[in-house]
Amino acid sequence: MTMQTLLAPETISVLLPDGSSRQFPKGITAIDIAKAIGEGLAKATVAAKVNDNLVDASDVINKDARVEIITSASDEGLSIIRHSTAHLVGHAVKQLYPTAKMVIGPVIDDGFYYDIAYERSFTQEDLQAIELRMHELIAQHYEVIKKITPRNHVIDIFKARQEDYKLRLVEDMADVTTMGLYYHQEYIDMCRGPHVPNTRFLTFFKLTKISGAYWRGDVRNEQLQRIYGTAWATKKQLDAYLLQLQEAEKRDHRKLGKELNLFHFQDDAPGAVFWHPHGWTIFQQLIQYMRLRQQASGYVEVNTPDVMDRSLWEISGHWQNYRQNMFTTTTEDERIFALKPMNCPGGVSLFKHGLKSYRDLPVRMAEFGKVHRYEPSGSLHGLMRVRHFTQDDAHIFCTPDTMQQECSLVIALVLDIYKQFGFTEVAIKLSTRPANRMGDDATWDHLEQSLIDALDSMALEYQINPREGAFYGPKLEFVLRDAIGRDWQCGTLQVDMNLPERFDISYINEAGQRQRPVMLHRALFGSLERFIGILLEHYSGTLPCWLAPVQAVVMSITEQHASYATQVGQQLIRSGIRAEIDTRNEKIGYKIREHSMARTPYLLIVGNEEMINKTVTLRSQTGENLGTSSLTDTLLLLKKMAASPLYLCPLQQI
Ligand SMILES: [Zn+2]
Ligand SMILES: [Zn+2]
Repeated sequence: MTMQTLLAPETISVLLPDGSSRQFPKGITAIDIAKAIGEGLAKATVAAKVNDNLVDASDVINKDARVEIITSASDEGLSIIRHSTAHLVGHAVKQLYPTAKMVIGPVIDDGFYYDIAYERSFTQEDLQAIELRMHELIAQHYEVIKKITPRNHVIDIFKARQEDYKLRLVEDMADVTTMGLYYHQEYIDMCRGPHVPNTRFLTFFKLTKISGAYWRGDVRNEQLQRIYGTAWATKKQLDAYLLQLQEAEKRDHRKLGKELNLFHFQDDAPGAVFWHPHGWTIFQQLIQYMRLRQQASGYVEVNTPDVMDRSLWEISGHWQNYRQNMFTTTTEDERIFALKPMNCPGGVSLFKHGLKSYRDLPVRMAEFGKVHRYEPSGSLHGLMRVRHFTQDDAHIFCTPDTMQQECSLVIALVLDIYKQFGFTEVAIKLSTRPANRMGDDATWDHLEQSLIDALDSMALEYQINPREGAFYGPKLEFVLRDAIGRDWQCGTLQVDMNLPERFDISYINEAGQRQRPVMLHRALFGSLERFIGILLEHYSGTLPCWLAPVQAVVMSITEQHASYATQVGQQLIRSGIRAEIDTRNEKIGYKIREHSMARTPYLLIVGNEEMINKTVTLRSQTGENLGTSSLTDTLLLLKKMAASPLYLCPLQQI
């Protein structure tokens, strides 16, 4: 038998990523293709991509195809490792707690979770026991086996195992006739996959916490327990991540908020911030900064009502699409009002008021608007996720011709502002048209292209999120990287075709005809509350001097120096420095420690010598001795350090 007759009709041709094409017998698997390329690759194979679809390494390939081997080095490979580690939680949990019922175990950022129904609460000891058992199972290097199984058989299997929730999930998929079952020795999980072929890929994981969850994420349903974990391809990656977690815990803004006496929360107002004087000072500094930046960029500032009639929300579409997140109220005269969840309908009403001509455009209307959104109580998280927050919102109304230019201006402004807050690594994401959308393709082409051209003209790199745009227009997202490498999505720029239409707004163009303006929505900090949370964690509580609630403290060494200390302090305050005076009858060492802990950037110490010579001795928060100098010189230095970066940059840049 020649090669030709052996392979002839049963051969498929496989196109590899390097552009080469190889012949394989029909029914070959990705793992066998990997073996043919090299033993090393075969060992590293987590899964494969066949014509862009992720499949198991054991899946057979019956037609000519493009095949890419997926290893743990890729994001896709890592995500599969995380998903398989979730399954392994199931394997370990069922061995240790046979009456537990497994619910769902998806992948999340940096890891995975598994929701479980169990008769008692899991403890930290349970978590350790589960982790230990997982490591034992991994050490067996057992093979994960996939079996495509007919629906009825799947139901029988889960019935026999009393996996009630898996049965409910099967019910949800009424049209599906066969399902993928993954066998982890005696444990069986249902999944679309793909999964790793062997547990040896799952070595570098850690279970991180237990929390509550609800079946289908609905508080009215029964409560479940959620086990969170993280998983990585290498020990180095895992260690780096755990270190980052530790760092994050140390600088948790909720902890810092307490220590620095900035804000608190209480049960009477879930998800609403009680700002203490020092916290509110930071808030005011941000507003003041943004206000000046906006003034210098041709914005006007407006304010719109917090409570507006239901009919307005019907026009905007919020009543139909967002009502479950809105706080509403009915008045004595039976009118229904809603607290604004967004500032846009207010902004568009302002534009609509009075006739606008093309000469009035662009209108750049900024509003520090407080918005109210009912978020599930389980999702609330310090300042990062609240129900009541203030947006540095703005709506720009412009002609289609100037839209790209307006987008460029917003992008330049947001990047410059982030830089002044110490964020130099900013990723930009462009979300394009979703499947469900309004407007014709030509309009979408124009809007998307305008955003792309704006980014290209500024030589900025960006990532495209296909089909992630809002139904009414494409969107840019600005993602900050903080000091410990975490990413935070803050700013957004959205193009909107919907609200101008719904509110029927127009301007008179050069030909004297009514024309619809383009509406842009933009927020740069996003939520001021959340941005403060991010700043606190980024700076680990030690804010730059211009943002610090207290910039300097004047301390007397003994009671004899109290009046001189007061005199110095008042001079600082009159010069616009946020200063405090500490003339308490305490040891100077104690005072220094206390104000350093409070992260006050500058400590001014006055004793006999300073009082006689009219000088002060200056110390930095970090303990650096900055020497003794005249009051005038100290004042000059402090004024320079306390000024916002806005005042330090040349005028044309603001
Ligand atoms: Zn799964
Ligand atoms: Zn808006």
